[in-house]
Amino acid sequence: MTLLDLTPRVATSDRLSTLPVVVIGAGPIGLAAAAHLLDRGIDVVVLEAGDSVGASIRSWGHTRLFSPWKHLVDPTARRMLEASGWELRDPERAPTGAELVEFYLEPLAALDPMASVIRTDTRVIGVTREGMDRTRSRARAATPFALRVATDSGIEELSARAVIDASGTYSTPNSLSSNGLGLLGFEEIADAVTPALPDVLGRDVAQFAGRHTTVVGAGHSAANTLLGLAELARQEPGTTVTWLIRNAQAVRVSSSPDDELADRARLGSRVDQAVAAGTVTVIDGFEIIRARRRDGHVELVGHRRGEIVTHATDLVVNATGFRPDLDMLREIRLELDDIVEAPKRLAPLIDPNVHSCGTVEPHGFRELTHPENGFFIVGMKSYGRAPTFLLATGYEQIRSVAAWLDGDLASASQVELVLPATGVCSTDLAGAAGGCCS
Ligand SMILES: Cc1cc2nc3c(=O)[nH]c(=O)nc-3n(C[C@H](O)[C@H](O)[C@H](O)COP(=O)(O)OP(=O)(O)OC[C@H]3O[C@@H](n4cnc5c(N)ncnc54)[C@H](O)[C@@H]3O)c2cc1C
Repeated sequence: MTLLDLTPRVATSDRLSTLPVVVIGAGPIGLAAAAHLLDRGIDVVVLEAGDSVGASIRSWGHTRLFSPWKHLVDPTARRMLEASGWELRDPERAPTGAELVEFYLEPLAALDPMASVIRTDTRVIGVTREGMDRTRSRARAATPFALRVATDSGIEELSARAVIDASGTYSTPNSLSSNGLGLLGFEEIADAVTPALPDVLGRDVAQFAGRHTTVVGAGHSAANTLLGLAELARQEPGTTVTWLIRNAQAVRVSSSPDDELADRARLGSRVDQAVAAGTVTVIDGFEIIRARRRDGHVELVGHRRGEIVTHATDLVVNATGFRPDLDMLREIRLELDDIVEAPKRLAPLIDPNVHSCGTVEPHGFRELTHPENGFFIVGMKSYGRAPTFLLATGYEQIRSVAAWLDGDLASASQVELVLPATGVCSTDLAGAAGGCCS
């Protein structure tokens, strides 16, 4: 780890070559990025906000993924793991998030070359160039990046020759308010709101048993929680479940027979059944505008079919999807699509109006390049607000970016990937949480 050097600079281009590539986030994509860079002999440091790798996935560890193991492991990481005696688990079976961490991310992070480059409990709070805000252009590309980080011992700054932001989107959920701004009155109800994917049948059961929960959002995160709550309602009298969506159509999740990810297709049809059986009550076309406390309950106030209406509940689960944290990148020159907030050249390839997950073309450094030379956003965060990201796509992204950072343009340019066809991701962006993966 290189601390910011305040002594007079050596020629910047010489200094750049002495610095590591810094990867932000030790999720599956950040760890795979480190594996690719180490495999190419490039010095790397991984900064992780959580106290262990896969911190975001641990939060929804009880949830089963819909991709089988064979689509979840990066090929280079797999080669490194297999060299240490590791074996891929049942390739056709989809693991839970907790299994993905225990049987893949943890062993990968513990490998000899990896363990020493990962720094946990280190949250990146700002990225810039040493001594330069975003308006300064002279010798910009030759000037090291500076990353400001918060740790248990305080704030420090680190230097990097390039930065790969693989920090995901899980820690920045969309607002419950349908206009995208913070929900008016949120402070009044904050203690009754949980982030997406609570463990309603396990860790968090006491919070939900015997209470009325309203799940807001139309995607697979919502579907997972609704199914858990429907089961809880069967076990615990007094447990009631409402599914509140802003679109006119109730079912946005996949129950399509065309979805090659069979587990995901089953999820959709099971929610259909819970609705048909009356275990889950659907309120559609409800656009939340504010919230307040009334008689000990939460009251959501919204527009519905031209009228102002209210909905009373005990608890709210925010499953409205996620957005990228761009605040920490304020001093970096980004080129983002003005709708999905994905890198501009990538956005048309992933537009959920046009593409299902299976028709996303493989892409690499070219689509991920920003005006800020040497800075990349990869993984879930690279899709901005589009909910259709798959790990297999991210592994190809970082293979290409690592090759580019190594000066291997031929390999960086040759992007290849076959994704499973899916019948779900062609939902409209207005119901963005209704895409394949949120
Ligand atoms: C419930 C669910 C099911 C999914 N199922 C599938 C599936 O079946 N198949 C599939 O291909 N994809 C699936 N996905 C989509 C996607 O593959 C996952 O979200 C995956 O975790 C994305 O990996 P990532 O490395 O990009 O981000 P993350 O896994 O979110 O990792 C980001 C890491 O960065 C850290 N971090 C965040 N901010 C900072 C910061 N400022 N500084 C330092 N560290 C930071 C976080 O703590 C985290 O460890 C699913 C997603 C969800 C939510």
